[in-house]
Amino acid sequence: MTGLRLPGGGEIPRLGMGTWRMGERARDRAAEVAALRLGLDLGLGLIDTAEMYGEGGAEEVVAEAIRGRRESVFLVSKAYPHNASRRGLPQACARSLRRLGVECLDLYLLHWRGSVPLAETAEAMERLREAGMIRHWGVSNLDVADLEELGPALAHCATDQVLLNLAHRGAEYDLLPFCAARGMPVMAYSPLGQGGALLRHPALKAVAAARGATPGQMAIAWTLSRPGVVSIPKAVDPGHVRQNAAAAEIILSPEELAALDAAFPPPRRKRPLAML
Ligand code: NAP
Repeated sequence: MTGLRLPGGGEIPRLGMGTWRMGERARDRAAEVAALRLGLDLGLGLIDTAEMYGEGGAEEVVAEAIRGRRESVFLVSKAYPHNASRRGLPQACARSLRRLGVECLDLYLLHWRGSVPLAETAEAMERLREAGMIRHWGVSNLDVADLEELGPALAHCATDQVLLNLAHRGAEYDLLPFCAARGMPVMAYSPLGQGGALLRHPALKAVAAARGATPGQMAIAWTLSRPGVVSIPKAVDPGHVRQNAAAAEIILSPEELAALDAAFPPPRRKRPLAML
């Protein structure tokens, strides 16, 4: 599966791995590291983490998983909004780099909007790029109006990472077209609805069963059927990791997409961007 072009040049893989809830308990660490290594072996070439996940613990799990294979990973981390200031961002980024054991992030995101002005964060991100600490920067959980507020800096923003799955399609109404018009990929988080009710939905189960796939695979394949979208399912269970990697091969047919639209209708009007 080919990657998506980033506004600043280079590519971002379309299917990767999330790490929320990793790095929280020492007894889970070996399984988490093994899951990320397995995913990399199976071609899931992007890892999404954040300073928030396990308060740095997830970044340390990622460090162990990517040791000796940095070049084959597109590495994404995120800063807390309260660290996204002119002074705070370089310090937060340096801490993330140290925990991850790398010299440079492929992509660094503002996790969500806080009280620091977006223009200040964008400027601090540009300084990190010039200093070689990050290759690209972007945002997360920003709606169209927030992106517009970035002004000229929007041209340098690589992505917006948002909640997007069959049960949360609001971003399709205006955010996806807005980003597509600017050549900016969107990252879909929680593509599996966090493994909850979405995967038990009878319509999703039926479409999956008819194709001989699992509901999780169909949920991921649906996010990948949206143009310009990167999907980052999180999995520790090795069976889940294998299923998720194989979802890259599933191209949904018009009939399957219509069945999913009937059960999970696309948005017909603007709603505020949902977030977790
Ligand atoms: P998710 O990926 O939708 O779901 C993860 C859950 O689904 C886990 O419980 C996992 O179980 C289970 N699972 C994984 N593959 C499965 C499969 N094939 N079949 C059935 N269950 C499966 O939820 P998420 O972790 O919230 O979102 C993904 C990533 O997006 C996060 O990890 C994080 O990196 C990012 N994220 C970003 C934001 C933000 O504000 N920017 C917010 C939320 C998430 P096991 O782990 O036991 O395998």
